[in-house]
Amino acid sequence: VWSNTRDKQLQERAHQVIPNGMYGHESVAMMPDDFPQFFAKAEGTRLWDIDGNEYIDYMCAYGPNLMGYARPEVQSAIVEQLARGDTMTGPGPGMVELAETMVSMVRHADWAMFCKNGGDATSIAMVAARAYRGKKKILVARGSYHGSAPWNTPGMSGIVPEDRAHIIYFDYNDLDSLTKAAKFAGDDVAGVFATPFKHETFSDQSHVDADYARGVRKLCDELDALLIVDDVRAGFRLTRGCTWETVDVDPDIACFGKVIGNGQPISAVLGANKARKAVESMFVTGSFWFSAVPMAAALATMKLVRETDYLKQLVTIGTLLRTSLDAQASQYGFSIRQTGPVQMPQILFDDDPDWRFGYRWCQLAMKHGAYLSPYHNMFINAAMTEADVAKTLEATGAAFADLQANRTTLEPQAKLGVLKRLLAS
Ligand code: PMP
Repeated sequence: VWSNTRDKQLQERAHQVIPNGMYGHESVAMMPDDFPQFFAKAEGTRLWDIDGNEYIDYMCAYGPNLMGYARPEVQSAIVEQLARGDTMTGPGPGMVELAETMVSMVRHADWAMFCKNGGDATSIAMVAARAYRGKKKILVARGSYHGSAPWNTPGMSGIVPEDRAHIIYFDYNDLDSLTKAAKFAGDDVAGVFATPFKHETFSDQSHVDADYARGVRKLCDELDALLIVDDVRAGFRLTRGCTWETVDVDPDIACFGKVIGNGQPISAVLGANKARKAVESMFVTGSFWFSAVPMAAALATMKLVRETDYLKQLVTIGTLLRTSLDAQASQYGFSIRQTGPVQMPQILFDDDPDWRFGYRWCQLAMKHGAYLSPYHNMFINAAMTEADVAKTLEATGAAFADLQANRTTLEPQAKLGVLKRLLAS
């Protein structure tokens, strides 16, 4: 039976020596009660917490697990490179090979730079936009996530207005709103950030409108500003290149992270020649940006991206999960909204204004072995099989049954009060 004694103990110790016991997007502070914070092992589609409970993991490390945890082809590339050297006085030859590989795979790209986190990549792109023509204003869609640096973090503690002085917000998928923001910036627009599709927490996802994407491209050309696609979360889950290739629009710069080393720490900025001089004029670096092991992992992952039918598998499994959950929800008398691409599902309950259904459903599914999120989009990985979906449905079925039985007496979880205030502010 499921228990979390060790996790609770470790969380208590953590609270003594780690601020809030944990911070950032992987903190379970906003997850349903009892979600485990600490994990012992991950392999293929599975995750084990430190109490030994096994889960089919639909968070995939919040994205990085694309091909299955500890995918053998990637593991052997890691082990081989580790024996030769990792963090050295300069990069290994794999850096050039990886740049050649990614430039050949991503349509708009003529050059590549590597860094560690998605936020490194988006900050490089932001600075590149300003370096490009010496202009200042950066246009960003309201509510979209691009990292946790002072210019883009959603948490405002410690952030001063000057950090955002040249950031102008517009509404995603709304050309009028973007045009207004550009007018407001006058002749000072350096760059426009575009999320490949709308994938915000606590809300339904929506696909990008192709006319909107073309409009953004046109506007950037007219203003001689750089168009930046932040593909950190969605990259290589929808297509084998930049996600806006699916609507036939090429950015000047795209940011990748998360999946490119299948979990090894590496992110990338891929740009067109138009932006090359700008990035060549900048000074950006990091002690671990040139480490050879993550680059070897990325080369192995990119090989799998090119040579396997992983995309088909993601769509097959994602579609099966979506149709099965829809059927299961209505079987138990609930209505759920599953939005966004099937490879990156967001699942929210109808008629659930204070989230009590969603939170309880995820909590119970977790205790039955399926790790889902009630507020963040999830991720399908290529190791998932129909058998995994069947097992997931047993867990979600148990969760729906409980929800149905307790529908009228169910109380919201205590943290949902905090959440409601946060969302309202
Ligand atoms: N952009 C997007 C769209 C993201 O989803 C994320 C991470 N969730 C980031 C940027 C930042 O990436 P990282 O956390 O690796 O810095």
